[in-house]
Amino acid sequence: MTAESLRKADLLREHLRGEGTELCLFDLDDTLIYTERIFRSQMERFAAHVAMHTKSDYRDTWGLLVRFNDEAFSEYKVTKSRWHEVVRRFVDKFPDQKAVIKNGLEILLDIYNVAPGFREGAEETLGAFIATGVELGLVTHADYQWTRLKYALLEMDRFIPWKNVHVVNPYEFKTSSDWLDAISKHGFLPEQTMVVGDNVLGDIIAAREAGVEKTVYVEGTTWKLYLEGEFPSGTIVVKGGIGYLLDTLITPAPVV
Ligand SMILES: [Mg+2]
Repeated sequence: MTAESLRKADLLREHLRGEGTELCLFDLDDTLIYTERIFRSQMERFAAHVAMHTKSDYRDTWGLLVRFNDEAFSEYKVTKSRWHEVVRRFVDKFPDQKAVIKNGLEILLDIYNVAPGFREGAEETLGAFIATGVELGLVTHADYQWTRLKYALLEMDRFIPWKNVHVVNPYEFKTSSDWLDAISKHGFLPEQTMVVGDNVLGDIIAAREAGVEKTVYVEGTTWKLYLEGEFPSGTIVVKGGIGYLLDTLITPAPVV
């Protein structure tokens, strides 16, 4: 660690101690890593594939894909089954191109064969949290196998042991009981916990309902379904994403 990061880690330790925070739980996708980029690039490839074979306008096809994806999300959430449903809807729309559209499913399922990279500043941020001695955990509702792959490829064990990774039901947004379960597994209380995430309902509101006072929203995804809801009062909002978390926490709030 550089002198500057050691200084920030010291200030962070002071800050967390002052608040009685013993446990920090992070969301993974789009909080720590660039998950949305992987989705977007594979969705673009799929839309190009369908547009080419159905001789449709690319932008129209992209619009359909976004709509079908949003509609399928209500039933299938973040499971891979969502893409089967999206493809089924495209087949209904273009029955003459059934075979070639079905081939495109592979493009969408390729999402789960790669690991998104760390967001700018995420590794340094996790490093500073480790230096404070506070306990760290991850709470994610993504596919279990994919979570394992991401954990391995990103060498997340440098920061968080696998036993501290909580993979919850992918058929719904994280709920208050998911956060509470994770907190209890660490042997702490909600008031000793800080939760950092980018999904307003599943991370911030659900954690607050679980009794977590220290809820921290970091800008991550741009997907509108993850941005619905109002921040509970006192939520810390980190503009620019996880790379700005440390500075936001250790800089005293302006007195008004
Ligand atoms: Mg997320």
